[in-house]
Amino acid sequence: MTCMEAQSLITGFINDELEIEELEEFIKHIESCSECREELEVYYALLTAMKQLDEDKNLSQDYSKELKEKIVQTQEKIIHLKYNYYRKKGVLVTIIIIMAVLFSIRYYFYTQEPENPVVESKFRLRYSFMEKRFDEYKTELDRYLEEHKEEGTTLPIE
Ligand SMILES: [Zn+2]
Repeated sequence: MTCMEAQSLITGFINDELEIEELEEFIKHIESCSECREELEVYYALLTAMKQLDEDKNLSQDYSKELKEKIVQTQEKIIHLKYNYYRKKGVLVTIIIIMAVLFSIRYYFYTQEPENPVVESKFRLRYSFMEKRFDEYKTELDRYLEEHKEEGTTLPIE
């Protein structure tokens, strides 16, 4: 993070509006750059005093000390959020592994028994049923044709 970037985040930091990634980079920069640290202290004193006046509160005695506390709290917050993030990620990875194992077990059994006996017998049952129905229909049709054969020949055909 450059000094320009860090200084553009100062107000965001004071108002607690930064994202965790920004916050982490910002703190890192502030810790190592005395120029930006001074800038932050000035802005912190100014903005906090303005806010306190606005809310009719007593002005703080030591802004520098308050800022130090805020930085320490922020560092703790970053560690806490990061820990939670990795813990959640760890849970997610575990779920994915379990699901992958379950799917591969299912796939293994599926390839071991390509023919499901229940499905096959059901299919055969239905097939023979349909066959019977078709035969019935066929004999009925034959009978009908036989009965109407005489009529058919008497139809006027030119
Ligand atoms: Zn800097």
